Amino acid sequence: MRPKAHIVDLPVYQPGRPIEDVKRAYGLTDVIKLASNENPFGFSPRVREAVTRALPLANRYPDGAATALRRALAAHLGVAEEALIFGNGSDEIVQLIARAYLAPGTSTVMATPTFPRYKTNAVIEGARVIEVPLKDGRCDLDAMAAAVTDDTRVVWVCNPNNPTGTMVTHDELAAFLARMPRNVLVVLDEAYVEYVTDARFPRSLELLRTHENLILLRTFSKIYGLAGFRIGYGIAAPAVIDALNRVREPFNTSFVAQAAALAALEDQAFVAACVQKNEEGKRQLSDGFVRLGLRHYETHANFILVDVERPAGAVFEALLRQGVIVRSGEALGFPTALRVTIGDAAQNRRLLEALAAALVEA
Ligand SMILES: *Cc1c(COP(=O)(O)O)cnc(C)c1O
Repeated sequence: MRPKAHIVDLPVYQPGRPIEDVKRAYGLTDVIKLASNENPFGFSPRVREAVTRALPLANRYPDGAATALRRALAAHLGVAEEALIFGNGSDEIVQLIARAYLAPGTSTVMATPTFPRYKTNAVIEGARVIEVPLKDGRCDLDAMAAAVTDDTRVVWVCNPNNPTGTMVTHDELAAFLARMPRNVLVVLDEAYVEYVTDARFPRSLELLRTHENLILLRTFSKIYGLAGFRIGYGIAAPAVIDALNRVREPFNTSFVAQAAALAALEDQAFVAACVQKNEEGKRQLSDGFVRLGLRHYETHANFILVDVERPAGAVFEALLRQGVIVRSGEALGFPTALRVTIGDAAQNRRLLEALAAALVEA
């Protein structure tokens, strides 16, 4: 058997290590995970009720159009229902975009380091990948615009960028979009948008009204706390949504996930409380890193990339032995950094104490 030639060398995605795995491997009973940017505060209590109510109906296929969720989300965002597409996580929307727009003979532009799924899916479709280095940890939109060629079909902008947490501003993005050829689809991945408190952040829904070649990606996995349900969405002009629907599996989001997302959306007080606590955690961790003499990028999300100024793998291992799982920067393009999810106050304190010990050890 012979798989397609261009997928043979693809790396298999390395997720953050599961808690149970680390407990077993290190003989620990108390392990915390600050590795996958999950919400340390769980999800709204309304989700549990909604899922319990939905469960007996799960013998039926889900509503492939996610009608109830679509209606509520369109009203919440102030967009047309036809402007939305749902996916099995926004990861699936990334896959649908690559499937619908990329092929051998085309190219696609993205920053590096950035979220790895853009590149993987582009490679699977046989497109040429043009990677533009970050500048001071931020997407270099000028260089990205300059990298676009005649065969470029898609440009990916992760904002805030994962793994750096940095952002591009509204004015920077608007100028970038003005330079973009009309036939190039610009993907703006806003997985962490709800966490952003900086007033200069792009008003992307406003930009959508004047740019038919723009798609926004958002998710219920991060601030809404539904990562295990797998549901995210895209917002774009109907022509883009139509193209993605043609390559979408008919029942790509589960009935239970749709019910969970609808309930989560209705509890904006939960979201606001999480933003507040994330701001406090951001200060707690950045103050702690400064005290340890470590530099980090200013983050606009629920994670921080901190430079430990030595090979990250050893520090990562020393943290694991103390029951603290973070993400080593080695796999993320920052070999001397760790990406740490902002946890609750107790988790952040534990991380800082463990890191102080790990730095001595490593
Ligand atoms: C977490 C994340 C996603 C994917 O989230 P889903 O769980 O698939 O919705 C997409 N983009 C970025 C930048 C992320 O960090």
